[in-house]
Amino acid sequence: MSNRPYWNMEAETRPLAEIREIQWQKLQAQMHYIYARSPHFYRPKFDAAGAHPKDIGSFEDFRKLPIMRSKEQDREAQEDSTRRYGHPYGTYLCAPLEDVTHIYCTSGTTGEPSFYTYTEPDLKINDECWARTYWRAGIRPGDTVLHGFGLSMWSAGVPIVRALAAMGARPIAAGAEGGIERMLMFARLTRPTAIVGTPALVQYIIEKCPAILGHSAAELGIKTIVVAGAPGAGLPDVRKHITEGFGGAKLFDSSQGAWGLGNVSCDCDEYQGLHVVSPEHCIWTDLVDPVTKAPLPLEHGAVGEGVITAMDHQAGPAFRYAFGDVIELATDACRCGAPGWRFRILGRVDDVLNVKGIKVYPAAIKNVVSAFSPRTTGELRIVLDQPPPLVNPPLKMKVEHGAGLTDGDIVALRGEIAEKLKGRLRISAVLEMVAPGSLERSTLKGKLIEKTYE
Ligand SMILES: [Zn+2]
Repeated sequence: MSNRPYWNMEAETRPLAEIREIQWQKLQAQMHYIYARSPHFYRPKFDAAGAHPKDIGSFEDFRKLPIMRSKEQDREAQEDSTRRYGHPYGTYLCAPLEDVTHIYCTSGTTGEPSFYTYTEPDLKINDECWARTYWRAGIRPGDTVLHGFGLSMWSAGVPIVRALAAMGARPIAAGAEGGIERMLMFARLTRPTAIVGTPALVQYIIEKCPAILGHSAAELGIKTIVVAGAPGAGLPDVRKHITEGFGGAKLFDSSQGAWGLGNVSCDCDEYQGLHVVSPEHCIWTDLVDPVTKAPLPLEHGAVGEGVITAMDHQAGPAFRYAFGDVIELATDACRCGAPGWRFRILGRVDDVLNVKGIKVYPAAIKNVVSAFSPRTTGELRIVLDQPPPLVNPPLKMKVEHGAGLTDGDIVALRGEIAEKLKGRLRISAVLEMVAPGSLERSTLKGKLIEKTYE
């Protein structure tokens, strides 16, 4: 049975029409649930929109509802619930407090932490979503998995340890707080075959392993690495660094939250984005215009701000939650053969450029250029001569060509990339082609903007 491609064969191979029907059935119940249980958060928002849950007659109606939750509103709702109820779990907490058995928080690096709340059924869904994610990355019951996320932070700490144990894998809860020496000591003694953590942690292991254990990270015997929490697995340079540093281990990207959403990349040579693994628990591939918040057509290549709706989360459910990430939707068949939709996270809403009325995200430009690999290295700079978002066309760019090209090849490549940018993103660009390796590398987050106005 461990040869099957998916943890949950039935749920993960449903046709889209069936998924939509399940989503719609659950959505109706969830709207009534949050309307009744959240008198100081969700109910007033429905009322202000003039929409009682019983009036929402279709999935399309649901998509026309306004955005009902954001990070800023979370903060207010926490303060409000502290005043009203004496707890900080937000006025969107819909379950009775005595049913909330687990609480996790964000890192709170910019102030007080935000809290995620779970009931027992919420935790079961969480376990299921991570099991689907890790199964697709090749983790199986009986594998030993080194857990390197911060244990006390957000939903990737204890919830992942729990979920790995629930699927029958053997988590070693080293946790980032314990420090790199302790983590590598755990690895030396327990011989894990997989690691889960942030891209930065995994790269730090590569750097520190020789000094701490006296050998390279490649000799740890790690076969699978699943990262989350930051861009990395989708960036060719980072990908190369990690997979080579671990002696050819497979690298997967993932993202998850508290509300029954699960996403994982696949084993294609070229990053294909994140596959949605739990569409019947959480709607993640819903897009609105980042400025007007109007719903956008859900079609292949659509780009907009992601909106999360949890359909069966009980405790503090996300409902039409705009979380500030810009995502690009892919509805075509992935060459890995896995069904369902995929998406890429292109950056934060604040990153947008406006080229004479055409909105474009730097990461979307990078995706277009990276597709010409190996004729390009994928490394580029968008050269801005005034502060964003306004850009006077044409957009100026520096693009590294690949090694071994003739002058004629480079000129032709420049034309092809400009044409693709025009066709795909509707922007005019002038490209300066530069030699491979000539643009400065940054290990964590690829730098895309070069400012000439500062
Ligand atoms: Zn795929």
